Amino acid sequence: MRMVDIIKKKRDGMNLTNDEISFVVNSYMEGEIPDYQMSALLMAVFYKGMSVNEIVYLTKLMAYTGSKIDLSNIRGFKVDKHSTGGVGDKTSLIVAPLAAACGIKVAKISGRGLGHTGGTVDKLESIPGYKTSLPVEEFEDIVNDVGVSIIGQNANVAPIDKKLYALRDVTATVDSLPLIATSVMSKKLAAADDGIVLEVTVGSGSFNKTFEQGEALARVMVDIGNAADKKTVAVLTDMNQPLGKTIGNSLEVIEAINVLKSGKGDKRLVDLVISLTSAMLSIAGVGNIGECRQLAEDKLKNGDAYKKFREMVKRHEGDISFLEDTDKFYLGFTQKVLAPKNGFIEKINTEGYGLASLYLGAGRNTMEDKIDFSAGIEVIKSIGDDVEEGDTIAILHSSNKDLFEQAEAKILESIQIGDIKIKPNPVVLGYIE
Ligand code: URA
Repeated sequence: MRMVDIIKKKRDGMNLTNDEISFVVNSYMEGEIPDYQMSALLMAVFYKGMSVNEIVYLTKLMAYTGSKIDLSNIRGFKVDKHSTGGVGDKTSLIVAPLAAACGIKVAKISGRGLGHTGGTVDKLESIPGYKTSLPVEEFEDIVNDVGVSIIGQNANVAPIDKKLYALRDVTATVDSLPLIATSVMSKKLAAADDGIVLEVTVGSGSFNKTFEQGEALARVMVDIGNAADKKTVAVLTDMNQPLGKTIGNSLEVIEAINVLKSGKGDKRLVDLVISLTSAMLSIAGVGNIGECRQLAEDKLKNGDAYKKFREMVKRHEGDISFLEDTDKFYLGFTQKVLAPKNGFIEKINTEGYGLASLYLGAGRNTMEDKIDFSAGIEVIKSIGDDVEEGDTIAILHSSNKDLFEQAEAKILESIQIGDIKIKPNPVVLGYIE
C-alpha cells in the first residue's frame, strides 16, 4: 500500500477501506509516514469528509494506539463529560462535583486549552498545588472515595491524537467534522466510562460556527459512543457570547467557586450546569429528566457540590485556603475597556474575546508556552445589555501591562454596538441522543 494512493483516493472523494485506514494509523504511529503526506491527507479529509463507517473505524483505531484507562476498580456508574471547546466555559468545574454530589461517579480526564478555547486542566492548575497528573490507581481511589476526580490527559491516551492535533493546528484543518469527532471520541473510548455527556458548542466562539455543523458533529459523536456501548448524549450549547462573566484561568475558577458556594451566578452558566448535570444523572439511570433537574438544583443550592469540589481539590493537594478566600488568587494588573458609543450590545465575536484573553497570557500559542493564570477578562456587558459611551464593557487582567493595548483593540473589534435590543439565544439549543 502506498500513502500517495490513499491521499489521491480521498482527494477524489472516495471512501477508504478499513485496511487503508489501519495502514495510515499504524504507519504514522511508526513514523513511516512523513508529516507532509499526513497533512495532505488531513486537507483531503477537510474538503471531502468521511463516511460514518470510516469515522467509527478510525476512532476505534486511534483509541487503541495508546493504553486503555481501565476504570474497573471504580464502583458505580461512571460518567464523563466533554466539551468541544468554548470561551469562558467553566462548566466542568461545577458539573463534575455537582454530579458526584448527586450520587454518580465522575472520572474526568480533561484537556488543556488550545487556540482561543480554554481547558479545564489549566484552570485547575491555577489553584496552587493542584496535581492534574496522578497515577491511575490514585485517580481511581479519589473517584471511589470522593465521587469525583479531574486529571489531565495522560500522554499515552490515544497518542496519535496528540500528533494529529498538533499537525492540524498548523495546517488549518482543526475545524473539520470527522477530525473533531475522531479526536474527541478516541480519547473518550480509551477510558472505560459507562456513559458520556458531550457539550457540543455552536457559534462564534466554537469550532462549529452554525447550528447545522454542531448538530451533525453531535450526531456522529453520539453514534460513535453508542456503537462502543457507552450511553452517550450530546447537549448543543450556544457559544455566540462567552459563557458566564469571566474568561481566563484564575478568574474562571473564582466564578465556578462562587457558583458552587452560593448556588447562584450568571443565569446562562447556571442553566447550562443544571442541564449538563441532569443529562449525566439521567443516563446513569438516577431518574427521569425532571427528577434529575430537581436533584441537581437542590445539591447545588445546599452546598453539597461545593463540599465535593473542596474534597476533590484537597485530595489533589490543592491549597483549599484559596477556595475559602478567593481574594488570595493573584489577578494581575487591570485595565477597563470602555464603550465607544451609546446603544445595545448586538453581537459579540466570541472567538475575538478568546483571542484577547490569549494575548493577555491566559492561553498558549504552542503547547510549550507558559500560562499566566492571572490573565483574562471580566465580561461586564453581554448581548442585549444597554451601554452608554464610556461605560465599562470588560475588564482586562494580566501580569504584564504591555499586553493590554492589543487585547483592548481585539475586544473593541469583537463587539457590535447598535440600536437594536437583541434577545440572546437560549444557552441550551437542543439534545441529541
Ligand atoms: N477538542 C478535541 O479534543 N479535539 C478536537 O479536534 C477539537 C476539540
